[in-house]
Amino acid sequence: MKTQRIGAFTVERITESEGPFAPLAFILPGVDMDRLEAHADWLRPGFVDVQDRLVMSFHSYVLKTPRCNILIDTCVGNHKERPLRANWHRQEFGYLAAMAAAGVQPQDIDYVCCTHLHADHVGWNTSLRDGAWVPTFPKARYVFSRTEYAHWQGEHQRALASGVPLPNQGSFSDSVLPVVEAGQACMVDDGFEFDHGVHLQEASGHTPGNCIVHARSQGDHAVFSGDIFHSPVQLINPDWSSRFCHDPLQAAAARHTLAQQMADTPSVLLAGHFPSPVAGRVVSRSQGFGWKTELQ
Ligand SMILES: [Zn+2]
Repeated sequence: MKTQRIGAFTVERITESEGPFAPLAFILPGVDMDRLEAHADWLRPGFVDVQDRLVMSFHSYVLKTPRCNILIDTCVGNHKERPLRANWHRQEFGYLAAMAAAGVQPQDIDYVCCTHLHADHVGWNTSLRDGAWVPTFPKARYVFSRTEYAHWQGEHQRALASGVPLPNQGSFSDSVLPVVEAGQACMVDDGFEFDHGVHLQEASGHTPGNCIVHARSQGDHAVFSGDIFHSPVQLINPDWSSRFCHDPLQAAAARHTLAQQMADTPSVLLAGHFPSPVAGRVVSRSQGFGWKTELQ
């Protein structure tokens, strides 16, 4: 993704990894393959490869306003113990080098915003230093939805009490709690404003306190949608929730609402996992929605 302008704001994409991730039928178990094949001309091979795997990107966005730099979602991270998912386990991604190449250093980040607290959205919150997890972004306030944090804190405590595996593959423990303990966490409610024109909106379903971020400047508008959509495939039928959605029906409702609001408008959608070229616009179709990536 080239630098995306939103009025006086700019957005850089910081990519951790990108490629065929997992079978489409695994990630989106409700997909009707006949209906999907009717869209093969634009879906294949960029979004669904020849082996019917979903092509996904794991990336962050740096939203720069005239007053602050906001890092939205923090991917998988390095050196995390994720034995249940080989491609996330004890990784050594070149993420900070990618960030440096975009002209951003960790100390430049004023806010870290996790749209939700799944393991692939909190990883770079912390880094391993002298055997301890410490905040990667030393000057940042880490913004978490109060609802989202309370849910996972409860799950974490229940797991500790009952001896079952920790939630989100341990990421609450190694990538969220150390930030709270360092005094850098900021629990916020629906509507929190980072800066003029940049605010958080709760859109629960994928997780109980899932959020999206709106950025508005000089008449332009972009939505950082986190995991409301995992793939443009879901624009064909927004009912197709992912297997990772906490409440699939509520997630589908949030997906429908956002697609309806954005369809055929100049608003730019910046999703959490859409592969290159990433940025695009939602268009309406006679059935469902479509995806347009040529922005200029
Ligand atoms: Zn995700």
